[in-house]
Formats: sequence, C-alpha cells, structure tokens
Amino acid sequence: MAFEGLTEKISSAFKKLRGQTRLTEADVKDAMREIRLALLEADVNFKVTKDFIKAVTEQATDAEILESLSPAQQVIKIVNDELIKLLGGKGARITIAPNPPTIVMMAGLQGSGKTTNAAKLAGLFKKQQQRRPLLVACDVYRPAAIDQLKVVGRQLDIPVFEMGQGDPVEIAKQGIAHARKNGYDMVFLDTAGRLHIDEALMDELKNIKAEVKPHEILLVVDAMTGQDAVNVAKVFDEALDISGVLMSKMDGDARGGAALSVKAVTGKPIMYIGTGEKLDNIEPFHPDRMASRILGMGDVLTLIEKAQQNFDEKQAIQTAKKMSAGKFTLTDFYDQLQQIKNMGPLEDMLGMIPGVDAKALAGAQVDNKAMGHTEAIILSMTPKERENPSIINYSRKKRIANGCGLKIEEVNKLLKQFDAMQKMTKQLASMQKRAKKRKGGF
Ligand code: GDP
Repeated sequence: MAFEGLTEKISSAFKKLRGQTRLTEADVKDAMREIRLALLEADVNFKVTKDFIKAVTEQATDAEILESLSPAQQVIKIVNDELIKLLGGKGARITIAPNPPTIVMMAGLQGSGKTTNAAKLAGLFKKQQQRRPLLVACDVYRPAAIDQLKVVGRQLDIPVFEMGQGDPVEIAKQGIAHARKNGYDMVFLDTAGRLHIDEALMDELKNIKAEVKPHEILLVVDAMTGQDAVNVAKVFDEALDISGVLMSKMDGDARGGAALSVKAVTGKPIMYIGTGEKLDNIEPFHPDRMASRILGMGDVLTLIEKAQQNFDEKQAIQTAKKMSAGKFTLTDFYDQLQQIKNMGPLEDMLGMIPGVDAKALAGAQVDNKAMGHTEAIILSMTPKERENPSIINYSRKKRIANGCGLKIEEVNKLLKQFDAMQKMTKQLASMQKRAKKRKGGF
C-alpha cells in the first residue's frame, strides 16, 4: 500500500515526542521539521506541505497544548485532524439521482485505469447497493477499449452498450436512452483517454458533458504518477468541473503525495481508490481511515468491512459447528484459506492493524508464500485424503510432494500441524461439553 515510507518517518517523529514528559515549542518545531521532510519525500506538493505544517505548528505550539497533561498525544491529534482535512474531511461519494438513471461520466488519461475502474465502480454499486448499472463504451478511438470494457463487463455480469466507432456524444445519448428503456438505474460512460492532455480530448469531453449532463464526473488518476496526477486533475477540473477523483493503483508503492495533495490543489475530493488489478479491488475513500493508516494507527474499520464482505456467515457458523464436533477437514481448511485470500494480500491486512510495523510486514510476504504452499499440497490430495488425512501413507506423501513441486517434509509439516489442530479442537469441544453438563446439573 502507498504511504509506507511516510508512515515510518512520521511514526519516528512521534516516538521522539512521546519519549518526553514535557514538551517545549522547540520540541514541536523539531518534530514538524521531520514531518515536513517526510511529506516532501512522499512527493506531497510543496505549498500543500508548507500550509499543513503551518496549520499544525500554530495549534501545537499553543501554551495550552504544551502545558496539558499529555502534550504529545495532543500534538498527534492535531496532526491527525489536519491530515483528515487534507484528505477531504468527511469523504464524498457518488450521489444517486432522484430520477434514474444516475449518469456517471468517467474521464482520465490513457493508462490511468479508467476502463477497469469504471467497471469496478459499476460492480461496487451492483454488489453493495443492488443497483442495475450499464456500462457505455464511448472510447471510439481505441478499438481494443470497447473489447476491454466488454471483457470486464462480462466478468462482473454487467451489460455493455456499444456502437463501435461512432460519434461518442451520440453513443452516450443512445446508451442513456437504452438504460431508461431497459430499467438500468446507473450509467457509467467510459470516455476516450489520450496519452497526454490535448485540446481535442477536452473538447470532446466538454461536448459529452454539455449534451448528456451527467450527474457526476469522476476523474481517474494514477497514484503512481505523483504530482503529475495532481496537475492532470487540475486541468480536467478546470475544463469539466469534475465531481471528484478516483485514485487508482493505491496498492502500488506510490509514495502517497498525489493522494495528499489533490484535494488541496483542486478543491475536489478523492471519492474512491483502486487497490489492485482485480475487479473487486476498489474502496470508497475514507479520509479519517486513511489518516489513521498514515499515522501508523491502523484501520480496523476497513479490516472488519473486508472480513464481512468476504466471509460467508452461514459457512462460518457451519465451520464453527464442524470444529466443535471435531469434524473439521482439510477441505474446510482450504475453503477458509480462499476466503482469507479474497481479503487481499496479507501485508495489506496487517497494515490495517494498529501498531504493526514495517518489519512485521516483511514477514507477511513470506507467509503469503507459505499459504500458497499449503494450498498446493491440499490440492494435490484426493478428496478422500482431504477428508481423512490419516490414510495418507509414505508413498502417497511422496506423490503429493511431487505433484506440487515441494519437499515431502513440507507435506509432513502440514499434516502434523493439521493433526495438532484437530486434536486441539476436539479437546476444546469436549471441555465445552463437560462445562455445559455441569451447568445443566446444578
Ligand atoms: P485506461 O487506459 O485508463 O482505460 O486504463 P485501463 O483500465 O486499461 O488500466 C490500465 C492498467 O492499469 C491495466 O493493466 C489495469 O489492470 C491496471 N490497473 C487499473 N487500476 C488498478 C489498480 O487500482 N491497481 C493496480 N495495481 N492496477 C490497476
């Protein structure tokens, strides 16, 4: 995830503050100098950094704060509040229009992730709000763009309206008419991009806007391009008066400067973030949660939401029952691994837990590999063996190891661990039963 370097440096500045029982103005200024450097190194816009540090310093050097019982905590709170402001305050979303369909025009440079994220966004509304979205292919210059939209649309089971290489304004209009006629309540217009901003592109987008009057115009910018993304946002906003930004590729090692500068420079908020190449890798943007992540304080709310989205409650109850009956098999174990994997890379999840530092994250990469090995071993077994691993003899173990390209020791290790786990759950189950009996007896 973006911001790793920034988090590390801000945490180190805070650690120094926390180490002192009393704070002086000079202590705060030292810490602010470090944070200023950290922001600049993260590629935050120079003026934005300057204003941010000024705002924090003014508040944090106030005598009341310095003389309070926990001055370091107060300073951290001020930084947190200012970060939330910088990231957009309360958070903004696409508003559903009173009369359907809600028309969302997607814009952005080529390669920013516009097509993919138009589909992801449509998918998000379909899944979380049970909307009926329609994707409309208005990028008529790149024949591959229409096909690409159809491919992602098919994967998400969202229909795509297209008229080949016609006039984009006409296609947008017809697309919306098609949505009205067929009961689609949201329309996402995938407009054309260019490698660089040019007048022809802007004119075309302005024409579409004037003709179809979209309710929302969302600009997709690539977080990896840093301040360029902010400049692009500024130009698009001046031409189109966008509603907000969808910042893609936040999963990469972008330093985070674009995300921290875009609201202050353009006045327009980040509404959604793209967090990976998969079609469900999109999240509404929460400034408070992101500030918390940047300050190394985790993001437990997002973690819980991810768990709720990816874990099937009925299945979880069944698994718990199986466990307490001592009937938990390797097939169940494999299913659980899949659900954990759906939540995203382990290091991202760990990053959302308060207090987890960068060193722990490096360990998580190894665990991702171990998880892959475990899956491969289970998949190389027969269904019968997964239900009852005690039937696996030496020659089968060798075959299983060969089947997944691993050593027999790894197969043994997994089987031992699984055996220990089963024993433990059986023991727990019998303890529970005994406790219940005792309760019932009195
Ligand atoms: P367009 O030219 O703006 O329509 O861009 P595309 O939608 O074709 O995306 C360009 C590339 O970026 C594709 O390879 C996408 O898979 C990738 N991409 C889009 N969004 C994200 C994201 O949030 N994270 C990552 N890692 N890749 C993304």
